[in-house]
Amino acid sequence: MSERVIPLVDQRHAGFATPPAAFLPDQLVRPNGLLADTLGRPLSDLRISVTDRCNFRCSYCMPKEIFDKDYPYLPHSALLSFEEITRVAKVFIAHGVKKIRLTGGEPLLRKNLELLIEQLAALRTVEGQPLDITLTTNGSLLARKAKALKAAGLQRVTVSLDGLDDAVFRSMNDVDFPVEDVLKGIEAARDAGLGPIKVNMVVKRGTNEHEILPMARYFQGTGIVLRFIEYMDVGATNGWRMDEVLPSAEVVKLIHAELPLVQLDPSAPGETAERWGYAGANGQHDPALGEVGVISSVTQAFCSDCNRARLSTEGKLYLCLFAEKGYDLRSLIRDVPAGQDSDTLLASAIGHIWQGRGDRYSELRASMAPDTGTGGRRVEMSYIGG
Ligand code: SAM
Ligand code: SF4
Ligand code: SF4
Repeated sequence: MSERVIPLVDQRHAGFATPPAAFLPDQLVRPNGLLADTLGRPLSDLRISVTDRCNFRCSYCMPKEIFDKDYPYLPHSALLSFEEITRVAKVFIAHGVKKIRLTGGEPLLRKNLELLIEQLAALRTVEGQPLDITLTTNGSLLARKAKALKAAGLQRVTVSLDGLDDAVFRSMNDVDFPVEDVLKGIEAARDAGLGPIKVNMVVKRGTNEHEILPMARYFQGTGIVLRFIEYMDVGATNGWRMDEVLPSAEVVKLIHAELPLVQLDPSAPGETAERWGYAGANGQHDPALGEVGVISSVTQAFCSDCNRARLSTEGKLYLCLFAEKGYDLRSLIRDVPAGQDSDTLLASAIGHIWQGRGDRYSELRASMAPDTGTGGRRVEMSYIGG
């Protein structure tokens, strides 16, 4: 392959990011499903953001003051088309990806998303198995769309819900959206067979910690797995403060005092959530009562087996949720030089980039200065998804 410099760096935050480094794929990386980064971590999970827009304004993610009508959302022409997403996904799969999560912004705002799901559902892993395809949503449009999503080949959904108290929920989504409609969405997902369903609750100390127990009681024994997420310092706009983080250990203690819990083994390598099962009268886990999960992104780093890559709405590859820059893959689809094969270029680029990955932000967080907005600017969660 002839030597060619490919600019693979995010220009979106050009004013903030470190100067773009040229990327030189001077040799082919042929996908064999066994890619590993500098810390030996495989690439098995791909999160694809299908829109940077959202109908909620959760203050920890898209605060209203910043994400207002003047915010420079991506124009439609910048978005990867469904065909482009599927092509990139195919190459990721050849490198070992087995699980795809669609996210956003709010993914259900992307028009005709079912068509993308249909295309992804037709793909097979290196081992010839169907992909594990899931989606994270705020649930607002789920009641309307659950059936069509299931018919298109979506297997399950994760719904974000930060409390059951209507006033608390309306204030956290900051667009006055009622909790009842999200609960109806969860019901519709269950009726459509989109399970096992997970519900994610971001816990902010002083804002919704009193919703932990009502949420635990509500979902216990329903087959729905409730997961508590520590409020994270993602992006650069949510004004994150450590004193608003309620450590997962405290969440477990609080629930355990009323609804006894026993710790369960992880169900898969690289799993982000620590699992706790509800105990029955004999003190053992009672599967009928179900389980909860805690995701301790702040107090307990889980970088050592982080196998997740993130593809932004406009086709940039991010190696970490806290990355400041992404690698532009879209140009390898849209601006392919004559005589070069786009899939080969993509495979080599993804291979090189992953082989050079050493990201472990959460492990290093303790020794880093907080993001003041003056240095590198971290990518927003609404842009690359969770
Ligand atoms: N809009 C969809 C939703 O809310 O489910 C998908 C995108 S959203 C960015 C993905 C997940 O990230 C949600 O579960 C959300 O609660 C979580 N999230 C966003 N900002 C966060 C933060 N600062 N800390 C922890 N989790 C966060
Ligand atoms: Fe929207 Fe999800 Fe972010 Fe809330 S967490 S603002 S629903 S993208
Ligand atoms: Fe993965 Fe980055 Fe999160 Fe660590 S901080 S678990 S590397 S996304």
